[in-house]
Order: sequence, then C-alpha cells, then structure tokens
Amino acid sequence: MAYAMDTRCIHGEGHGNPDQNHAISYPIYQTASFSHLTPGHNPNGFDYSRESNPTRAYLEETLSSLEGAYDTIAFSSGMAAISTAFEYFQPGDHIICGEDLYGGAVRLIEQVCRKNGYEVEFADTTDPALLKAALKKNTKAIYFETPTNPMMRITDIGAVAELAHQAGALTIVDNTFMTPYFQNPLKEGADIVVHSGTKYLAGHNDTVCGFLCSGNAELADRFRLLSKTTGATLGPFESWLCLRGLKTLALRMERHKSNAEAVSQWLREQNMVSRVYYAGSGMISFTVTTPEKAVAILKNIRLITFAESLGGTESLLTYPAVQTHPDVPEEQREKLGITDTLLRLSVGIENPDDIIADLRQAFENAGK
Ligand SMILES: *Cc1c(COP(=O)(O)O)cnc(C)c1O
Repeated sequence: MAYAMDTRCIHGEGHGNPDQNHAISYPIYQTASFSHLTPGHNPNGFDYSRESNPTRAYLEETLSSLEGAYDTIAFSSGMAAISTAFEYFQPGDHIICGEDLYGGAVRLIEQVCRKNGYEVEFADTTDPALLKAALKKNTKAIYFETPTNPMMRITDIGAVAELAHQAGALTIVDNTFMTPYFQNPLKEGADIVVHSGTKYLAGHNDTVCGFLCSGNAELADRFRLLSKTTGATLGPFESWLCLRGLKTLALRMERHKSNAEAVSQWLREQNMVSRVYYAGSGMISFTVTTPEKAVAILKNIRLITFAESLGGTESLLTYPAVQTHPDVPEEQREKLGITDTLLRLSVGIENPDDIIADLRQAFENAGK
C-alpha cells in the first residue's frame, strides 16, 4: 500500500534508502560532471548536472510522488518552470490564462510569449460558461492559479480540465498556494502542474526553486528535452535544501492553516479592515479603510516582516499593488481588486498569539 502524504514528504515513494552509502540525509552531489565507464555507458545514467544530478533526481522523485505526477523537473525558480511550460507551444497557438495571476507570470505572457507569436487571452476561469466562450479552434492550453494570488478566487480544476480536453487543449495549474498537501491538480484532470518551490515547498525563505510536474510520458519527454536544452535546472545544494524543507511540509501546512484561520478570524473583527479574503492554506489578503492606513500598518509591524514572497516559516506582509503586481495594468488591477488598500499576509508558523499581537499593535499605531 502506498504511504500517506505526510510520510511521502519524508520518504518519497519509499523504495528503501536511495543512497548507495546508506546516508539517512540524501547527499549533496556537488559535481558538474560524472565519469563514464566506456563510451556511451554510465552505470547510473548521470552525465552532466545541467541534464540530471542525483540530488535533484531524488527531489524530483519526491515531488512526483506528492503530486501524483509521471515526471517532475526541478528548476532554478518558479518562473523558470513556468517559462519552460510555455516553451511547449508554437507561434499561432491560442492560450487562455486566468485573469488573476502572479505578476511575474503576467510579465512573461505580455513581454515574452507575445513576442514568440502566441495568441494569449485572459479569461475568468472561475466561470466555466465564460471559459467555454473563450475557447477557439487553436486553443492549446488553459493556464491558471487556484486560489489566485492575491485575490484568492477559486477555479474548479476538474470542470476546466473537462472543457480543455474536449477542445484538445492542455490544463496547466500553478499549485504554489495550496501545495500537493492540500490539492493535487493532476488527480483532478490537469495535465501539467507548476510550482514556485521557493514558497511552501522549500518553506524557509532561504531558497529559490521551481517545479514542473507532467501528467504523462509525452509531456515529460518534451519537458526533459526543453529543460536540458534551455538549462535553468536546479543546482544540487538548492535541491538538498528543498528536500530538507519538504520533510516538514505536512506539519508546516497544518500550522500555516490553523494560524491563518485564527488571524483571518481576528481580522474580520477589526473596524479598520473592510474585507478579508481567505481560501484555506496560509495566505490571507485583506483591505483596510484607506491607503494611508495600509502604509502605516506596513511601517508599524515588528515581528511580521514587510517583504515580498510567501510560504515560509516567517510571517511576511506584502503590498501587492506595489510589490508583486506592478506589471499588471492599472485598469486590470482595479477590476480585480488589487488596490492600494489591499495587503497580503503570508501567515508563518510562529505562535498565533504573537502574530495577532503584532498586528494589533500595528493597527493601533496606524489608527493614531
Ligand atoms: C512566487 C510565485 C511564482 C514565481 O516563482 P519564483 O520562484 O519566484 O520564480 C509563480 N507563481 C506564484 C503563485 C508565486 O507565488
């Protein structure tokens, strides 16, 4: 019987100890190249670390196990994984993107994909009827996040995958916010999952990495070729840091979630807060009554850090309109609700009372 998710975070599929010297912590194979026995023959299949490396391979196997993927490739960042996913397409292909995406993904689409001749269109993936209307003969993919960043809007992955498959298009899901611990898009019918591993997967605000998980052999072959050719694969040390982070994913996600539930409850009771957006996991967005108050809160937090990024042990507060989403056109930001009164909180795994106490004093000071 397959191990449970929390066990697989530590042992992967659990094919016994994978290291030839039986090290408990899988070693960092800090090497660029590998010796060959005879021409064309390398016993363990490793030639050169851009293409493959044992530490990265073990991390990739672990992630495949967690996402239920046929194959996973670890990249040097989430954006490297997403860029490689978009390399799959040809000039003239139509790609539908969720309209509320990570700002860097929007920049990739606007400034790189269009140059490559893709026809890219943003649509509301939360509404299957609208999505159906956006499908065209040349639609090759539907790409979205659920919940979205930062507005926490939810898309039904299974419903989108069904529409996409009928149209002969791929479903690509950015699963950064939920992680495989809370959501497995491939099991709901998606074809490809991408991750910013920088966030919950590595989990300690100390590593930048990304993943591309393929649901079948054909996709996996193409992405193996693309990743070894374009070359943005993950180094051995970062692979090891991410493996170490993953071991506690289950514990961390439970704590992120229970902390975020407590904090979102507290936020809902504050006069200074007009709306709270919370969809599970450890992420909360909220609006305050004025832009001045938003800036004053950012200035007054002490335990929580005013910084970009999310998903680590430390609580971080972000100002999306300025920090993560400046590349989204202002009109689109207004439409989505990414205004100058919106703050995004990545609730860390500190004691929840300390997080709430810090917010309380920052709110009090901001109200003065
Ligand atoms: C951070 C993030 C990315 C980009 O990942 P990097 O590791 O920073 O390159 C993509 N998608 C989402 C949802 C993110 O939060």
